[in-house]
Amino acid sequence: MKPSSSQSPSPSQPATENELIVWTWAGWEPVQFYRRIGGFHEEQEGNGHGLEAWSAKLRSPQAAQALHEASINWVTTHFFKGFGLKTEAPEIAQTAELIRNYHAEGIKVFAYIQYGTIMPETIFAEEPEAVEWKRMDWHHHHDGHPYEYGEQYWRVKPCASHDSFRKYLLRCVDKAVEIGADGVWIDNLNSDGCHCDACQKAFREYLAETVKDPWLEMGLPDLAGIAIPRVERPRDPLFQAWVRFRAHETKTSMEMIARHARERKPGIVVAANFGIGSVHLRNLIEGGNWVGNYGILDVMYAENQAFPAWEQGKIVSQHQSMKLAAAIGVKVVPGASVKMRKVGPYEIANVPDQRQLRRVFAESALFGAGIANGPWGLRGENAGKDPIYLRDAEFRKNSRQLADGYRALQSALAGSVDAAPVAILYSFEAMGYDDRDSLKAVTSMAQMLLQHQIPFRYVLSDHPENMEGVKLLILPHVLGVSDELAGQLKAFSKKGGRILATGRSSLYDQALRMRNDYALADVFGVQFSNRFEAENQHAILVNEATGSVLLPGEWGLADAEGKPFCAVAGERIVVAIRQAMCIDAIPHVLSPLPQVGFEMLRLPDGAYVLGLLNYSDEPVRSLRITLPGKLAGTVKALHPAATAELAVHQSGADTVVVIPHLDVELFLILSPFSR
Ligand SMILES: [Zn+2]
Repeated sequence: MKPSSSQSPSPSQPATENELIVWTWAGWEPVQFYRRIGGFHEEQEGNGHGLEAWSAKLRSPQAAQALHEASINWVTTHFFKGFGLKTEAPEIAQTAELIRNYHAEGIKVFAYIQYGTIMPETIFAEEPEAVEWKRMDWHHHHDGHPYEYGEQYWRVKPCASHDSFRKYLLRCVDKAVEIGADGVWIDNLNSDGCHCDACQKAFREYLAETVKDPWLEMGLPDLAGIAIPRVERPRDPLFQAWVRFRAHETKTSMEMIARHARERKPGIVVAANFGIGSVHLRNLIEGGNWVGNYGILDVMYAENQAFPAWEQGKIVSQHQSMKLAAAIGVKVVPGASVKMRKVGPYEIANVPDQRQLRRVFAESALFGAGIANGPWGLRGENAGKDPIYLRDAEFRKNSRQLADGYRALQSALAGSVDAAPVAILYSFEAMGYDDRDSLKAVTSMAQMLLQHQIPFRYVLSDHPENMEGVKLLILPHVLGVSDELAGQLKAFSKKGGRILATGRSSLYDQALRMRNDYALADVFGVQFSNRFEAENQHAILVNEATGSVLLPGEWGLADAEGKPFCAVAGERIVVAIRQAMCIDAIPHVLSPLPQVGFEMLRLPDGAYVLGLLNYSDEPVRSLRITLPGKLAGTVKALHPAATAELAVHQSGADTVVVIPHLDVELFLILSPFSR
């Protein structure tokens, strides 16, 4: 369900609506790129003698048939890598051939367009203006990070302040439409800093439009002498403005591309990768990407490079990326891949097992992503061995069975909404001006909720409509809260919503200027003072009047020696959360092991779908769901139906469902008697 937003609606429904996409990479780089890089790249041997033959195989009718057999209905393939449209013309012609062959099997194709790097060795000869596109540092040099792509010195990062660069990308879109692509896939949508003259000018113009009072906001009488900051210093008000400017830059680029693509081909599917879900990218501060800006997309690529799993006491999941995207109505491709296997010093591409694949599909269904995938692409193996999809009929058959099951489930879930009663506030200010601690506080809280089977979603700070239906909103170390957001949170509280906040949440404004008191002091029922904070570092304070909760200590964060700032045990917070989320209306899952995820969806007829996902390879036994009296009704397994040996009994007013054995996933449908 797409929430209302200020963005203009796309001219026609994209082809992804209500259809479970089963996706894979079908050759993510042109052969030219592998030759230039001279070796292994993203789990693919790039310099083998079999490279051309492998590439030819990927675009063949046989590959299309094999993928169709495996139930794949969308792929992404190479199209424009940044060498230049002329240089890449021969391989673009091969992509056109791939599209024809794949269309014959009903498979749709995203054309990959590289936003983040261009190759000066070729594109400068093609496009004389491209010489001007290099991102520049303070000294007008462009060497090294973040002006080049890591050690790949032959890939230069371009600057989107150049109108001619953006127009070049639109030409790429035109070409993709011309060869029949069903979608465009923008990779490395980033704005990681540029000090060129065009950017300095654009930044000054941006400030002239957005800064109301230079003295109050920046300590400057006027904006005449300013320039783009030279160092990362998030508390610097000019740096904050620069974060906003770059988020505006990437948003503007993406809107231009999306509008242009839809004008050229109504219904085209627009996808982008800006690193959501990545464990090492800092999306906003480094990349100029704010997830709330991308409601214009149809699809995001979440590249955490891992299959859902239970590892070292943590649930590895795409929950956050999927739910953030769902908050703005965008689907997500989970960019899963299996860790390479080492044979001596040589790395070999690995193939996921059936459990790993099931978990990807289950997460997609549970968390509203709408897109699942199998192995990470049509990867060849040592000495020219074919990719698993092409060589293994049994694997294809299993993939189709899995996809068929989930297609049926997806249609059973049509029109459902996220019924998670709890949400975490994901704030632009927190991620922009204090990202390391803020992200840590959010992920610690999220991990705890996941491991305690508490269904939750995200509310974006600039999308207050996300609060609809939330009973408890958690602010983990959300220091900066604007007056406007504080007003929305107070209104949420007045309507019966509860807030649980940690640390100094709301004690600062949107520019991290400290207030005299929490903006939400009335909601918490306390007043800030240094003494109050010191005395309550390890306390959970419940305001009986509003039901809201404050933990004045910075829960989830630790000092340099690893000592937690707040010693409140996670178990105690979970109790406070369960009490605050109005437990009498919510199913309560009791899992003997923490590696089980739990999610709730509500169908249009009022029935609930409860989803359980075991992240470990060890089966979970005797899992219990208590349904409070209000939810009394019939419970049956929706998927997979075969594993449904449920024991249901009454315990006082409550109904208890016992699941004797949870192998991977189980979806239950709960139809309350009286509605
Ligand atoms: Zn620039």
